[in-house]
Amino acid sequence: LAPEEIHHDRLACLRDPRRLRHLKEVHRARVGDVLTLGVAGGGIGRGELMLLSDDEARFTLDGLDTPPPPPLPVHLVLALPRPRMLARSLEHVTAMGVKQITLLHTRRVEKSYWQSPELAPEKIHHHLVLGLEQARDTVMPEVNLTKGFRPFVDGRLPELLTQRRGLLAHPGMPRSCPRGIDEPCVLLVGPEGGFIPHEVERLLAAGCEGIHLGPRILRVETAVTALLARLF
Ligand code: SAM
Repeated sequence: LAPEEIHHDRLACLRDPRRLRHLKEVHRARVGDVLTLGVAGGGIGRGELMLLSDDEARFTLDGLDTPPPPPLPVHLVLALPRPRMLARSLEHVTAMGVKQITLLHTRRVEKSYWQSPELAPEKIHHHLVLGLEQARDTVMPEVNLTKGFRPFVDGRLPELLTQRRGLLAHPGMPRSCPRGIDEPCVLLVGPEGGFIPHEVERLLAAGCEGIHLGPRILRVETAVTALLARLF
């Protein structure tokens, strides 16, 4: 729920067509049902559905005092993958609790991907919301999307790596992905074609630890999910 959808302490009114459809088609909600509801950026509570029509749903709320699940202390730096993969990756990593995402350009990122309609702010927002809803989370991740961001030239990535432990996921690296780390980190994942050797050298020289996930080469979205599951 957006804060403005809560009309006074105990009444929420929802008119967004997508979420109305979701209520009807996914939850098969009926008047009298009690659903878990969260307010954007805030707590989670229970709402009893009092009215459900084609253009409106009304709930009476029972507290919004359960905090959202804790975030993952990882800044994901992801080379821009193909748009369909980006959409799924954003949804998965948001559901897993990532709150900082930077999309970057590397040598093997297809330039046309930067023109994709999937990069429109409302599209990105949509995928983040799907991830939050899935995980019963309410805190929106921050997505840094600078089309011309060339991490190895403009210095911002090395700066980021001075602040946190950097982990570079790249097949064939000497060290296996650590399990259960307990400190914030920056996780770098390459594009479909991978990082080129020069980029790997630059990232290692900037202080990243190279890590691998075993002998199988995984798709970007699978690799990101597996890495996060291993790390935290
Ligand atoms: N041919 C590319 C290569 O060998 O680097 C494959 C790239 S893979 C499809 C896309 C990204 O997922 C990689 O750049 C890496 O960040 C991550 N990845 C996939 N499989 C991995 C593995 N076994 N170990 C570490 N990272 C992996």
